[in-house]
Amino acid sequence: MGRSGKPKPPKPQSINQHPKPNETSLRISFLQQAAKLMAEKSHSKNDTPSLLSKLYMEELNEVRNIQQTLLSKDLRRSYCRYCNRIWIPDQSGENGIDVKITKDRIYRKCKDCNSMASFVRNPKYQSRNEKA
Ligand SMILES: [Zn+2]
Repeated sequence: MGRSGKPKPPKPQSINQHPKPNETSLRISFLQQAAKLMAEKSHSKNDTPSLLSKLYMEELNEVRNIQQTLLSKDLRRSYCRYCNRIWIPDQSGENGIDVKITKDRIYRKCKDCNSMASFVRNPKYQSRNEKA
């Protein structure tokens, strides 16, 4: 008597899946909002809201590193990667960023930590609004 040679049905592919796939993005979006709120409440670069804001951004980056999550382009470009300053106006109307545009380069300076970044300028570049 042979065994009945029925193949076992394949198991559903549930290995290595995070139990809550949205936990990371939820946490990142929460930290982002908290950091933004604090940055808006700040009066000067080393006051409590400002430092809290940077702390939240630090935490956000930690979560992102551990979970290997890519941040959205908008978010990546909205803060200083050296001191975590979010470039939005604080209570004194200071947005913490200096932009200089030359013929072929764009220079961006964070006013909190004086770090500089420069980009090749693309004269054909159109923003989302201009494209529409
Ligand atoms: Zn900075």
